[in-house]
Amino acid sequence: MTIGVLGGGQLGRMLALAGYPLGIRVELYDPSPDACAGQVAPLISAPFDDWDALARFAQGKACITYEFENVPLETARFLAQRMPVYPTPRALELFQDRLLEKQFLNSIGIPTPAFAPIDPAQSDAALQAVGLPCVVKTRRFGYDGKGQGVAHTREEFYALVERFQPYALIAEAFVPFDREVSAIGVRARTGEVAIYPLVENHHREGILRVSLVDAEARAETSYVVRLLESLDYVGVVALEMFQVGGQLLANEVAPRVHNSGHWTIEGAETSQFENHLRAIAGLPLGSVAPRGYCAMVNLIGTLPPIEAVLRIPNAHLHLYGKAPRPGRKIGHITLRADTREQRDALLQQTLQVLRDCSRADG
Ligand code: AMP
Repeated sequence: MTIGVLGGGQLGRMLALAGYPLGIRVELYDPSPDACAGQVAPLISAPFDDWDALARFAQGKACITYEFENVPLETARFLAQRMPVYPTPRALELFQDRLLEKQFLNSIGIPTPAFAPIDPAQSDAALQAVGLPCVVKTRRFGYDGKGQGVAHTREEFYALVERFQPYALIAEAFVPFDREVSAIGVRARTGEVAIYPLVENHHREGILRVSLVDAEARAETSYVVRLLESLDYVGVVALEMFQVGGQLLANEVAPRVHNSGHWTIEGAETSQFENHLRAIAGLPLGSVAPRGYCAMVNLIGTLPPIEAVLRIPNAHLHLYGKAPRPGRKIGHITLRADTREQRDALLQQTLQVLRDCSRADG
């Protein structure tokens, strides 16, 4: 069986690698001929609006999926007229727009921070609706903290609205969260659902740095199950949330495999990548049970000495074959241990290696 993946970044690369043991071939489609997944699987390089190239790409595929949510909607719809596209273009449409996303989440009873679309001619109305401090975000194409800023005063709010023109914007109440978490779920074509344990995420400068997952962590299953079932969704979904006291507020949905699920490659019985392929291929899902206490550390911008990482017990290194560049995700490390204390000690050791490396670089 061959599955087509739109996008050839590290997520496509890890999907391709997960396909090999199952005998599932992955072929990739990315406008960039240098996309890093092309190092491990065949890659067609053409623009997303090259309809002839897309039609050829569709030939012989069991289904099509995507590894990033900014695939143009028209591209997904064009392919969906020819063959199954999972998750459906409807999911893409909702989750590539922060306004449609939050309206949809609220409509199925999943709470979010207060939000309002910003009409630049009457931006006061949005400010009144969400109050200060607030976060101004572009509705589309934001990632890793790009296309957003926090306003503490009215002046800062107007300055942000001005700065992001001419893009469509949304204002959100700033949430003084206790922690950020994500719940990753998967739904098969049969309707079978599985949810991985809840993951605690630590960001810096808007970029995910560390994810932590405990063997006894319980997922917030009801929200994810509702999300999956209400869309008749097929594949992996990630729901990012803010925890404030006992309450969870949804921040963002990724209709794809997600960075905060990379730990599942070594840390769960079945990885998110394998389960995504199983789900869209019409196969039974694998167990999502965790194997011990895990941490995932992203490698961002610079590469630490490989020997120093591999000397850390139970450290699993993943390099994406991307050239190091400031702010760029070029790999990750998964740590696995039998107890939380051991896991935390390994994490400190790993973070020290990264600090030493950035000091040596600096
Ligand atoms: P996003 O691109 O929406 O995932 O935002 C990137 C990061 O900015 C999040 O992981 C949070 O750390 C922070 N952030 C985004 N929205 C809010 C909010 N409404 N309140 C507080 N922090 C936020």
